[in-house]
Amino acid sequence: MSQSEVERRQEEAEAHIRATIINELCQVMQKTNLPPMAVLRLATRAIGTIYREMAEAHSGVHPCPCGWRPHYTNDVEVLGMALMTACESHRRDDLRRMRIAGTA
Ligand SMILES: [Zn+2]
Repeated sequence: MSQSEVERRQEEAEAHIRATIINELCQVMQKTNLPPMAVLRLATRAIGTIYREMAEAHSGVHPCPCGWRPHYTNDVEVLGMALMTACESHRRDDLRRMRIAGTA
């Protein structure tokens, strides 16, 4: 698979996951009246427990045959960085847009 094909598939997957999660978060907020940060924190915790389940399914005596093996410390750092950079990059985009709007 070429690098651009990999990137295209990752972008498609991210768009799909994002659309699904936004839909679910909105439904949960409407049903529970929980504030956005509470719901986002629950979603983040859910990703953490899903990671743990996936890691367990890929370790031990009969691990998943796909070949991926979890490396807890590394993986958690990668997930934490993905969360931080995604939060930061949107803030940077907003700042850039405000600056452009400000100079226009
Ligand atoms: Zn697997």
